[in-house]
Amino acid sequence: MKLWKLSAGTDAIVAGRKTRSDAPPSTAYVMLGERCRNNCRFCTQARESGAGANMLSRVTWPGTAAAEAIAGIDTAYVAGRLKRACLQVVDNGGVATAAAAVASLSAASMVPVCVSSHLETVADAKRLIAAGAERICVALDAATPQVYSEAKEGDWQERWRLLTACAAALPGRVSTHLIVGLGETEEEMADAIAACIEKGITVGLFAFTPVKGAAWADRSAPPIGRYRRVQVAHHLLRRGYGREAIVCRGGAITGFAVTGLPELLADGAAFRTSGCPDCNRPYYNERPGGVMYNYPRLLTAAETARAIAECEVIGGGARAVAGD
Ligand code: SF4
Repeated sequence: MKLWKLSAGTDAIVAGRKTRSDAPPSTAYVMLGERCRNNCRFCTQARESGAGANMLSRVTWPGTAAAEAIAGIDTAYVAGRLKRACLQVVDNGGVATAAAAVASLSAASMVPVCVSSHLETVADAKRLIAAGAERICVALDAATPQVYSEAKEGDWQERWRLLTACAAALPGRVSTHLIVGLGETEEEMADAIAACIEKGITVGLFAFTPVKGAAWADRSAPPIGRYRRVQVAHHLLRRGYGREAIVCRGGAITGFAVTGLPELLADGAAFRTSGCPDCNRPYYNERPGGVMYNYPRLLTAAETARAIAECEVIGGGARAVAGD
């Protein structure tokens, strides 16, 4: 592929431009291909999307010659301005495009590469690792089969089988994406995250973002309280707490059966972008100055306090308490 599309923030770093952003990307985000053959209702690259081919979620992706992009990513990596590269390959058939792109980047740079591409088999995933990828991502997106069938084409069970088979074959090298706000309950999302973590799968949490041109452009983003509770659940599960630490009633998370939870959340890490190491996806789900679903940087003490309060179930003023 001769043209690599870099996210606007990545493009600025690769071109050596100063950005005014308070949070430059720590990963180079690269989109390869356009117009997916799938039809996810939330995606601007879907087959029937009316959005421009240079849009993915809220981000614009200017095109750059592949050689220039690779050289720029390597220079920024060596200088410490980028720590990872994430290749998001739009599904227009086969894994060959992704494998070739991974191979050309890995031949030129030591940057750890994560690749998110449509895979059919574990052999496809191994082919990407053999080409030089450090990690692969098999996006589930939806927490349950029901939500999957409403939001996407294909079969959740099939995807889950592939994801878990990849995780078993490539331990510690597999990520997935889960999107909060596609119609699942908080409890279903907590269950899906717990199941992934139990299988050794790294979860990148996203908030559903209505974007012009996508089929679900008119739906609402999830309320921040719901997203914060899921973030805390994810944080606890990642740190080894069992699923029973997340208390649910009627599909909602109503509390956390954990002693000293405010102290555990005091560093703000629960509310930062999650996923592969060093992936911060700045302003992927957020408008500058708008609701910060995922913080792409360290939080201030005031931001952490606000995020904890937004959970609505922790400390004073909680709408419910663990085990009530
Ligand atoms: S978690 Fe981040 S680096 Fe990993 S595949 Fe997702 S977007 Fe890419």
